[in-house]
Amino acid sequence: MTSDSLIENIRAELGDKAVFINDQIGDKYLSDWSGETARLRPRALIRPADTGEVSVLLQLCHDAGQAIAVQGGMTGLSAGAIPQDNELAVSLERMSGIEEIDSDAMTMTVLCGTPLQTIQEAALAAGFSFPLDLGARGSCTIGGNVSTNAGGNQVIRFGMTRSLILGLEAVLADGTVLSSLNKMLKNNAGYDLKQLFIGTEGTLGIVTRVVLRLFPKLNSRCTALCAFTQLSDVIHFLQLSGSEMGGLLSSFEVMWASYYRHIIDHVPHLHSPFDQQYSFYVLMEIEGSDQQQDSRRFQSMLEAALASGSIQDAAIAQSEKEATTFWQIRDGIAEVLPTLAHCANFDIGVPISRMQDFITDADQQLQTRFPSITTFTFSHIGDSNLHYIASTGVKEDKEKIYDIVYRLIGDYQGSVTAEHGIGILKRRYLKYSRSETEIKVMRQLKNAFDPKGILNPGRVI
Ligand SMILES: Cc1cc2nc3c(=O)[nH]c(=O)nc-3n(C[C@H](O)[C@H](O)[C@H](O)COP(=O)(O)OP(=O)(O)OC[C@H]3O[C@@H](n4cnc5c(N)ncnc54)[C@H](O)[C@@H]3O)c2cc1C
Repeated sequence: MTSDSLIENIRAELGDKAVFINDQIGDKYLSDWSGETARLRPRALIRPADTGEVSVLLQLCHDAGQAIAVQGGMTGLSAGAIPQDNELAVSLERMSGIEEIDSDAMTMTVLCGTPLQTIQEAALAAGFSFPLDLGARGSCTIGGNVSTNAGGNQVIRFGMTRSLILGLEAVLADGTVLSSLNKMLKNNAGYDLKQLFIGTEGTLGIVTRVVLRLFPKLNSRCTALCAFTQLSDVIHFLQLSGSEMGGLLSSFEVMWASYYRHIIDHVPHLHSPFDQQYSFYVLMEIEGSDQQQDSRRFQSMLEAALASGSIQDAAIAQSEKEATTFWQIRDGIAEVLPTLAHCANFDIGVPISRMQDFITDADQQLQTRFPSITTFTFSHIGDSNLHYIASTGVKEDKEKIYDIVYRLIGDYQGSVTAEHGIGILKRRYLKYSRSETEIKVMRQLKNAFDPKGILNPGRVI
């Protein structure tokens, strides 16, 4: 079948509203936030309206051997959703909405194209919370979050997306609808098939519906910025505050001085609450149910840490506005990143006990090769996730920087991606984090689920 007749068959089944061709396809379907863009405009953009249409679409593509690029909110950072040559783009943006909130089971059933922020707001309005949170909340979709197993700011307390999913529905490459809309926390009846579609970046099926786990709404929040001289003190304090706060600790974000100073100096209206400069800064937050009681506990824990010398200084946010300002320092990278030319942007994982050695080693190797290089480091630390940014400003250096750092990650038994996924950009580095046997089994799984290789080919493996 020619691609023209395939597109006309898709139009006949899904209708004109679902099919766009050539110049009708807007630029937003051509790039994600990785900075990469499609080389060619895809022959067609297909926007199915429901699971039935996804199923028909995949049957037609499967029969024709037509490859597709699956698209959510296009906020991904690994280029996985960017259409490659000869692929059709399949956007799930029309499949948006909350189908059910089950207050007894504490679950929410949503369509895959629903923006994360819509879900968070609906959960709060129903008296619950949905604790997945990331900077792209307004644009990213739950289907994209599931497919990338997104992390975010509260992983130390609630886990990654995987731990927030009870059930899902997916459409397989040949159009089979696999409905596994479990609502129970415990279910050991055979294989847990939903796991196949979480974190597999759209290579094994298209996620169409998701059953989310809701949590009790938390009514209190305390936020502080703390200063340290050594990373070992930061790690000690992470453990101490985790046990002292009895499970209320929800965020613990570390910023190395180079990062902190750059953000303070370059993002307008941001100021450091400290007179002095330190080597490390931690933004920490606890969430609970009693503001007065939680604030008292939080303050006395920080006072004791200051008195014992395990932290050097601390500033407790006195208002929502001040807490937001502290978060703006941590999130300032989104403003600064576009000003750094040709930077290599890493979301690597390094075992916490080896983190400082890794950074010293990476900085040293890069500075030897590129004396004028600038690096910034910040980390979710409690989940071993390190964000490391390196730039010489020279386009040709970027790949060389990637090679040096990813190779080093292998030496440290780390991960080449802790949260953004492999996509297209990190495929050739997967070998530094996974053994040959692991990659072979991944290929077997891909062949079993998608023997014609039509779903996001060339991504992950
Ligand atoms: C400012 C900013 C902050 C971010 N912060 C974080 C963070 O803290 N933690 C984190 O983990 N990520 C973060 N990200 C990355 C990104 O937001 C996440 O990867 C998000 O989960 C992607 O969702 P999306 O809907 O935009 O997916 P897309 O970018 O559209 O797609 C991402 C991948 O998922 C696949 N996919 C999308 N929808 C489906 C579906 N329904 N079925 C099957 N496959 C699908 C795509 O093919 C692609 O491979 C951030 C991005 C930005 C821009």
